[in-house]
Amino acid sequence: MYSKTNTTSLIGLDGKLVEVESDITSGLPTFSIVGLPDSSIKESKERVRVALINSGYKFPAGRITINLSPADLKKEGTQLDLPILISLLASMGVITYDYGEYIFLGELSLDGRILPVKGALAMVISMRELGFKKFIISDGNKDECAIIKDVEIYPFENINDLVGFLNKEKEVRPYQLDLSKIHKQRSFDYDFIDLKGQENLKRALQIAAAGGHNLLMIGPPGSGKTFAAKHLPTILPDMTFDEKVEVTKIYSIMGKLESGTLVEERPFRGPHHTASEVSLIGGGQGVPSPGEITLAHKGVLFLDEFPEYKKNVIEALREPLENKIINIARAQASVSYPADFILIAAMNPCPCGNFGNPNKECTCSINEIRRYLGKISSPILDRIDIHIEIKPVNYNELREKKDSKSSATLKEEVTRACKIQEERYKDEKITRNGELTSKLMGKYIKLSDPVEKIGKLAFEKYKFSVRSYNKILKMARTIADLEASPDIKENHLLEAIRYRTLDDKYWNV
Ligand SMILES: [Zn+2]
Repeated sequence: MYSKTNTTSLIGLDGKLVEVESDITSGLPTFSIVGLPDSSIKESKERVRVALINSGYKFPAGRITINLSPADLKKEGTQLDLPILISLLASMGVITYDYGEYIFLGELSLDGRILPVKGALAMVISMRELGFKKFIISDGNKDECAIIKDVEIYPFENINDLVGFLNKEKEVRPYQLDLSKIHKQRSFDYDFIDLKGQENLKRALQIAAAGGHNLLMIGPPGSGKTFAAKHLPTILPDMTFDEKVEVTKIYSIMGKLESGTLVEERPFRGPHHTASEVSLIGGGQGVPSPGEITLAHKGVLFLDEFPEYKKNVIEALREPLENKIINIARAQASVSYPADFILIAAMNPCPCGNFGNPNKECTCSINEIRRYLGKISSPILDRIDIHIEIKPVNYNELREKKDSKSSATLKEEVTRACKIQEERYKDEKITRNGELTSKLMGKYIKLSDPVEKIGKLAFEKYKFSVRSYNKILKMARTIADLEASPDIKENHLLEAIRYRTLDDKYWNV
């Protein structure tokens, strides 16, 4: 008997509708799956067979054909186990009611349990866009999928319970998740108030957080670069619900959804420089998977010892820094992943670390320094808005009793500046000053004549590239927003210029 079951397979973050057709005819016993299945799906055949027998059914004698349609779509993932089994049970006459309105997702264990799968949330969201409202999934995926409000999630632990439900012998209500109960504000055990003697760096990090600006810090080892970067999450604005769902989708696909439900905090990723290009940027066998830059989406990507990363990795950052996405082309499939992160890069000024340090002597030759700094190409430097030099903190600064802003105060100011930007760009596709395109800059960044004059002087003195100068204007806009000033004033522009003057000192040696 012929039957059909609906499911989905992911290409990147998008789920495509897959129909599992099943037919049993008389003849010599065979069991074949056709329709461009990936090798993981071929293994699914064995799981389906054993799970079916261990759930108390007799495996049908005869020719069993499973067709995954559309045939030209490469299908991947263990979520096809369950729909294959359901189709088979329907062909066997075990399931007698129509279940065409449901999407089935689940891996099978050999004893007939339904196991959670990676990417369930992304699959549910994609199928909802196609008009499906009812989902049958593993109990282990329920807290992730039930984030989506206008769908019905039916979680099951095993095949027998599910068959009872489909045959209307058992009533099951859609699963409801109380989001207010799981929402927990993360508390940090560190605070910017303790970052003594680094007021400039704190300020630069606040600007980065407020406007979505990338930042490069240069300073000797032990100047507190890593320590400061790790404080950044304490002042980042809270994510909107939609941003949380976007991030959760990515973590779900990567199998990194530790909480099992909505991701509440902006990600902070700090991959080591020895990590492979695939793990950092994305790629790999089959449909390319996302890398660290996508795991940092809507959060922070921290690259310590920046010049130590492989050249191709550093250069591959150009596209995401410019367009907030990464395109990965492979023979199997080409996919785009979101990669909208704030890059915080840290580096020593030279191989020994002491170039420019008044207290210690640099032992590097000028060529060694050039080679080292040259690993960061000018197109990359150009794409990092804020460049800041970190000096080692001296004892007096450390002991100073000067008022220092706490993370809570800084975050409040950041959040207010973000609200101003969201209001300003409500008719555009952007939310932060850091994302302004040259076209939008013409519309939203206006300077008074005296301020324009300062800009012109600086442009000529420092021989800024147009891209660099645009970065200055965007930063000045953020600095003005942090003060809730409608206009960009002299001091805003002057401060922004300071963050672009290091190229001269380091890269032109
Ligand atoms: Zn040196």
